[in-house]
Amino acid sequence: MKFIRKMSPKTVLKLVGTLKEMCDDDLDPILLAKQIIKKGWVRISEDYSNYEDGKSSDGGKYGFWENVRLYYDKGRFYLEITHHTTCDGFDYCLNCGTFNSHNYEECEPTQVLI
Ligand SMILES: [Zn+2]
Repeated sequence: MKFIRKMSPKTVLKLVGTLKEMCDDDLDPILLAKQIIKKGWVRISEDYSNYEDGKSSDGGKYGFWENVRLYYDKGRFYLEITHHTTCDGFDYCLNCGTFNSHNYEECEPTQVLI
């Protein structure tokens, strides 16, 4: 990820601020920012409040989580978000996080300007 060199300290601060708004309370936004810059995709939130073993695949009791990565386009930095679920019995769209079956190619990934 060569574009990382273009990150100014101000941009890194904005990244941490944006992550703080998006990530779960028990996660450290500074640590997440470091991981995103170093590794790419990082999990920033999850919801397992409805999750149940044995029903997590196609039984309606799923866990969900979101991953983000840094994305650079035309002089601006974005966080790109993908949505995930433990459910594998139905089509789930990584881009918008819905079970509606649709053409994923036409579904825009969620991006947040930082
Ligand atoms: Zn979609």
